[in-house]
Amino acid sequence: MSMALPDPAARERLLADEIAGKFPDARGRFGPYGGRYVPETLIPALDRLEAGIRAHLHTPQFQARLGSELASWVGRPTALSFASRLSAAWGAQVWLKREDLAHTGAHKINNALGQALLAQQLGAQRIVAETGAGQHGVASAAACARLGLPCTVYMGAVDMERQAPNVGRMRLLGAEVVPVTGGDQTLRAAIDEALRDWVADPSGTFYLLGSAVGPHPYPYLVRELQAIIGREARAQFLQDQGVLPDAVFACVGGGSNAIGMFHAFVPDRSVQIVGVEAGGRGSGLGENAASLSYGRPGVLQGCYSLLLQDDDGQIQETDSISAGLDYPGVGPEHALLMTAGRVQYESANDAEALEALQECARLEGILPALESSHALHGVKRWARSHPGGRVILCLSGRGDKDMPTLQRTVLK
Ligand SMILES: *Cc1c(COP(=O)(O)O)cnc(C)c1O
Repeated sequence: MSMALPDPAARERLLADEIAGKFPDARGRFGPYGGRYVPETLIPALDRLEAGIRAHLHTPQFQARLGSELASWVGRPTALSFASRLSAAWGAQVWLKREDLAHTGAHKINNALGQALLAQQLGAQRIVAETGAGQHGVASAAACARLGLPCTVYMGAVDMERQAPNVGRMRLLGAEVVPVTGGDQTLRAAIDEALRDWVADPSGTFYLLGSAVGPHPYPYLVRELQAIIGREARAQFLQDQGVLPDAVFACVGGGSNAIGMFHAFVPDRSVQIVGVEAGGRGSGLGENAASLSYGRPGVLQGCYSLLLQDDDGQIQETDSISAGLDYPGVGPEHALLMTAGRVQYESANDAEALEALQECARLEGILPALESSHALHGVKRWARSHPGGRVILCLSGRGDKDMPTLQRTVLK
């Protein structure tokens, strides 16, 4: 069971504080969530990072450098495409925010490039990153190559086998990929290794974290670097339609593309905001990766948020057809937005995502990532109860990387 929601007045106060920009607060919290649940040895490194963000991230010089790289190398602004045939089929008016067109094929590059530039600004000599499915590792390796920074990517040995093409991509981009054979040999063990490396030399090394999760200030930093998605989409839509959309949708793994899409729209109370999690095979323990829909409060990787755990607080196995959504936790700002009642979170299962992927490919000539296809299904469901409604969906990435899964399922 999810925790009980606070009373309406308390929810309204949380939302007002969020809109006023009061989160994260001085303790790195988004209302009850977030913070820093880490060993003492990590605190100085996190403090240094926080001070670096405060000193540089929002200066005109840093923003000019970031903006120039986003335009000339990443390919921003990404298009906002009206999906006319999908709209006709589903009965609502659907626009796609095309993060699949960003360099390396997904929104992850916005964050990787921004953090790599910040690392360079702070005088770091090398970057460490962790990766699960390999997409964040590829984005990090590309950003580091662009800036001439050495890059070490920790990856679970099991994941390296499952994601061999991405291991090759990272190596071609000049990164060193280190197999992690301890723990569960997947993402969680890789994060622990990357943290250990960082703590050994916190001033010379920069830890480039891949989603809006982890200890403060990472959820804030990643949100600031991804919020360009929603700012662009909002301006593009207003320019084109002269009004705000009725709704915006995004898929939620750790929550970075979703918070990036949502953040600019949170103050627009007429705009419904919906996050779609991985429903996997079903609603039972271990059958999905829907931390907001089925999770309970707890601490994972330095952060207090909602997570999938059993009655003893043991982290649950997760399951999803999309590797990028297959994570037992979620960023603290999403937990806040749900508690404040501003964003609704729902889930789409494996079969629903696969069906939406095929419809998008056939009707729009766009092969979306399996992750993004969960949000597509959410929009399809929404359209039934909102005929003619105008909705923007964050198409977080392209589906080429999912071909092995698609060969095994829909092409079989
Ligand atoms: C990694 C990934 C996601 C999930 O990560 P978030 O941090 O939740 O955005 C979603 N879509 C694509 C295409 C990804 O590569």
